Amino acid sequence: MRREQDELHRGIGMTSQRTRERLIQRLYEEGLSNARVLEAIRRTPRHLFVDEALAHRAYEDTALPIGHNQTISQPYMVARMSELLLAAGPLDKVLEIGTGSGYQTAILAQLVERIFSVERIQGLQDRAKERMTTLNLRNVVFRWGDGWEGWPALAPYNGIIVTAAASEVPQALLDQLAPGGRLVIPVGAGDVQQLLLIVREEQGFARHVLDSVRFVPLLNGPLA
Ligand code: SAH
Repeated sequence: MRREQDELHRGIGMTSQRTRERLIQRLYEEGLSNARVLEAIRRTPRHLFVDEALAHRAYEDTALPIGHNQTISQPYMVARMSELLLAAGPLDKVLEIGTGSGYQTAILAQLVERIFSVERIQGLQDRAKERMTTLNLRNVVFRWGDGWEGWPALAPYNGIIVTAAASEVPQALLDQLAPGGRLVIPVGAGDVQQLLLIVREEQGFARHVLDSVRFVPLLNGPLA
């Protein structure tokens, strides 16, 4: 049993530590340099976040299907968005919209004090919860709901990350950003969107347009 647990976390064959190291090396070569972010990715068994049939592809730098027409984000994008969120210093309270598999959640859970994660598909959320338990990540709280509304009861947040493409920046998320808070969000209605970083300043918001990205859309309303 113990040995099985070990193998589950460490991975074997195509999920081995060596395969994982290659992914980290590649991310580094692509310009991702935040050591804490790379270390969190190195430590996190991504193969536990996809179906067993896809586990052998878990350390490729690609998005993969997770059911319900959704995908686990590409490691590059997870690292990039985490770096942007953390670029001004440590964060104690982060809101995530679009839990999905919980992979981005698990990475952030190792980098910030507390994370609150909203997902509209209950089946995905249930599995993400189980994965946090398996990995002993205890600083995550989940909510089944509509990310367009954020999570007002617990606002404000020092960081907000959205891992689905919004047709426009949801006003509720701007409202729930603390002073100095950072929102990282893909925005656009087509297949390709723009990654935005929005920082709440003393008066108004500074808006930075960054990379061209591809995300599944941020849809309306919770779904059973
Ligand atoms: N970061 C996730 C990627 C999830 S894909 C991962 O690494 O696995 C985007 C997720 O956003 C999907 O799970 C989808 O169900 C969810 N989503 C889409 N619209 C939403 C909304 N309005 N509110 C909450 N979650 C939403």
